[in-house]
Amino acid sequence: MQRRAALFLLACIPFFTACAIIPVSRPASQSASKSASVSVTVTRAQFLMGTLVEITAVAPSDAIAQASLTAGFQEIRRFENLLSTWIETSELSRVNQAAGLKPVGVSAESFDLLRRALEVAEYTEGGFNIAIGPAVRLWNIPEAPRVPTAMELDIAAQYVDYRRIHLDAGRRTVFLEKPGMRIDIGGIGKGFAAEKAAAVMREIGATGGLAAVAGDFRVFGRRADGTAWPIGIQHPREPGKILATLDATDEAVSTSGDYERYFMQDGVRYHHILDPKTLQPARLCQSVTIIAPDATTADALATGVFVMGPVRGLALAERLGLGAVIVDAGGDISISSHARNRVRLTH
Ligand code: ADP
Ligand code: MG
Repeated sequence: MQRRAALFLLACIPFFTACAIIPVSRPASQSASKSASVSVTVTRAQFLMGTLVEITAVAPSDAIAQASLTAGFQEIRRFENLLSTWIETSELSRVNQAAGLKPVGVSAESFDLLRRALEVAEYTEGGFNIAIGPAVRLWNIPEAPRVPTAMELDIAAQYVDYRRIHLDAGRRTVFLEKPGMRIDIGGIGKGFAAEKAAAVMREIGATGGLAAVAGDFRVFGRRADGTAWPIGIQHPREPGKILATLDATDEAVSTSGDYERYFMQDGVRYHHILDPKTLQPARLCQSVTIIAPDATTADALATGVFVMGPVRGLALAERLGLGAVIVDAGGDISISSHARNRVRLTH
């Protein structure tokens, strides 16, 4: 899936992919470099989960840094095989294929992801909804985009109720109640993968790291020079321009925007984040950035808050005690109290 904006590394290697968040400076890229202390920093990028994945590791030795990068990428590939609905044999594809027929046993990890997704669906009053699959298919952004007819949307609307996704924790099964239902984890899977990659890097001995799966960032520890990870939030209407920056440690920063995957028709922007109530692209925001302790929550909430809009979305971020930077439909920016002292607007 080719995506639009560009991710710029400090070394000025442009990767043409979606990226809502830009690492604003970087000590090293693509190759190992020794700092004055014993820490080594290594960065590698690969195309996985239909997007650019970039991982940086800081470790006491080159061998550990390299091993943790390799393990991080392997972990993301493993999750892609487990969870991707583009892969017919994945666990989630089997769940979708058995819709209306029978419960399907899944791994603890898939079960955990689905449980988290349903939790966020409740928080966001259904704004975040992984049962959105039939509508995502209908819009087919960005492959063959077209505006679906009212009748097509009415039909799809019968299959997008997330309350009809039944999780049985005892048996560890998932059952989609109606034939035609289809889970889509596009709004949470990349954050989940970034979270898992960071965990495995840490296990291998990285003291610091950054796992970036498109616009979903998970950082831990510090950079080789002891500083936090500088993150830039992309401007939703000026490609390549940074809207705001913040320094992150041991947390996740995710952005959902209407500028990554969209098409224009008759002057209207049709993008990939759908309002489950109307099955039309959500209209209240241009971009939403969530800063949370873990990347799964950050990813799902960024999508969910985007649908809820600036007023209800900001209230939710306050209630959950999370950082939020919301650019509304008119371009006005609101920042939750948890992020206000940390986020620096660039203009
Ligand atoms: P990106 O995939 O660009 O990082 P998001 O995290 O916001 O952006 O996820 C958007 C994707 O999530 C869509 O491409 C679609 O697969 C799925 N999706 C669309 N609308 C919703 C929604 N209301 N709730 C949950 N997932 C959604
Ligand atoms: Mg998301």
